[in-house]
Amino acid sequence: MFGAIANHLKIPTLVGYLIAGIAVGPHTPGFVADQAMVDQLAEIGVILLMFGVGLHFSLKDLLSVAWVAVPGAVLQMIAATGLGMGLGLLLGWSLPASLIFGLALSVASTVVQLRALQERRLVDTDRGRISVGWLVVEDLAMVFVLVLLPALATAVHGALPQGEGTDVGVPAGAGIGVAIAVTAAKIAGFVALMLIVGRRVVPWLLHIIAHTGSRELFRLGVLAIALVVALGAAELFDVSLALGAFFAGLILAESQLSQRAAEESLPLREAFAVLFFVSVGMLFDPMILVEAPLATLAVLAIILVLRSLIAYGLVIALRQSVTSALTVAAGRAQIGEFSFILVELGVALALLPVAGRDLVLAGAIISMLLNPLAFLAAQRLRPLIERDAATAKPDAAATPDLEFERLPEPTRQSGHIVLVGYGRVGSVVGEALIARGLPFLAIEMSERAVAQLRGLAIEVIDDNAARAGVLAAANLAGARQLVVAIPNAFEAGQVIVQARAANPLLPIVARAHSDAEVDYLSGLGADTVIMGEREIARGMIALVDETLEETRQAGLVPV
Ligand code: AMP
Repeated sequence: MFGAIANHLKIPTLVGYLIAGIAVGPHTPGFVADQAMVDQLAEIGVILLMFGVGLHFSLKDLLSVAWVAVPGAVLQMIAATGLGMGLGLLLGWSLPASLIFGLALSVASTVVQLRALQERRLVDTDRGRISVGWLVVEDLAMVFVLVLLPALATAVHGALPQGEGTDVGVPAGAGIGVAIAVTAAKIAGFVALMLIVGRRVVPWLLHIIAHTGSRELFRLGVLAIALVVALGAAELFDVSLALGAFFAGLILAESQLSQRAAEESLPLREAFAVLFFVSVGMLFDPMILVEAPLATLAVLAIILVLRSLIAYGLVIALRQSVTSALTVAAGRAQIGEFSFILVELGVALALLPVAGRDLVLAGAIISMLLNPLAFLAAQRLRPLIERDAATAKPDAAATPDLEFERLPEPTRQSGHIVLVGYGRVGSVVGEALIARGLPFLAIEMSERAVAQLRGLAIEVIDDNAARAGVLAAANLAGARQLVVAIPNAFEAGQVIVQARAANPLLPIVARAHSDAEVDYLSGLGADTVIMGEREIARGMIALVDETLEETRQAGLVPV
């Protein structure tokens, strides 16, 4: 409900989920949800989310951005930690407490950043890859930090305080050098195991399961692989669950077949991933805004302003485009799950005062709420910066939305055909239109199809056709015909309703996959609805007839 309300108010759904979390949290009156349960479900969501991102990534992609991501992420963490430390010292905390506070303010939330990228369909772009690479490096760096904290605590207190949550897998009392070496060896072991063994075993396993012919087993298999690899990474190698899941996906991404199959087996991913925001919202105690307003503001200034500036400067210094720099900077203008883990551990190790944890929590939630604004600011700033900076070359291919409300430029064509969707169906239609010399305009939302269309010099609106306002750019009033070649009937219905409203006389052809969909789309105003399965049957019948005719002519079978 909160998500739908947010969507209706044209603010990002994430804000709705966070507020839903605050509403069912213990600090607000009314119903209080079971925090432990929500946390666990959210954890599954994070695993599936990262698994899905891995599915769309290849090792090559990851290595190709390493030279920006590694120095960028490391330098940014150092600079942001310094800032946070400064604030901690100003608040009168000890040096170790300030260090942990600084570290907590230096890492962004993987989940928030990925969702921001996915929502804007940036994961497959260069700047998206830089962002994901950056995030992987940060994730790895955090593994080291978490291991080093107990070593630091031993150095500070002389012995490790006893209690929950202080065990991170390295013997207490071990020197810092040993801790680093053990951790590096574990990470290297995990990566090597995944790349050498996993890369062969996992697709082979899926292949075997596919042979059983049981869909249930296949789905379970995919899920089990994602969860087992994530859990194994966490338990055996002390790598985070999210990173483990990312590698599991990465391995399956090597084969297109496994990729598609795995993708189709994760329908509940979004439902779980959304719970992550609810679980974060539940932690928020609004009282902190009254008790420590100035410190909260300072924390926010570091997260939202200073850290973004640092990230922006670093990406520019590494000779990337202004657009890339703004995308990375906007994506990182928030903190999240890692910061929580860090401050929890800091408090458990008696290194960080409880106030530090509360400030980090407040900073995390408010920065997540404001993160969409950071993307908006990035969008607004880009033309200004590009005009001023003589060195920056605007990359035309990378113009799509940093801003979610951006609407496409209206077309100048008229007397054209509008083709919605350029996949297996739409591309065949498009090729026929090209062969016949008929001018058309495509609406597509997959980056790959858009690139293909641009390669053919076809005008394309790079957006979701069902989104309000997008269709208006296609000049339907002046169009000759509308061809809706997308598989989702509800989205197709949205397109048809809007098209009908824009042009009552426009001939509309739509695609369906069941009789119910045919009725639905006709009812909304489509003139002709082609049902895929029926056409396949027709094609088959024609072939049977043809074969029959051939055998009859050869006089082989008396009919
Ligand atoms: P296929 O099922 O292979 O014909 O692929 C359908 C194509 O339509 C894919 O390339 C999708 O990216 C695209 N598509 C699906 N829904 C939409 C939409 N609402 N707006 C624009 N393109 C879409």
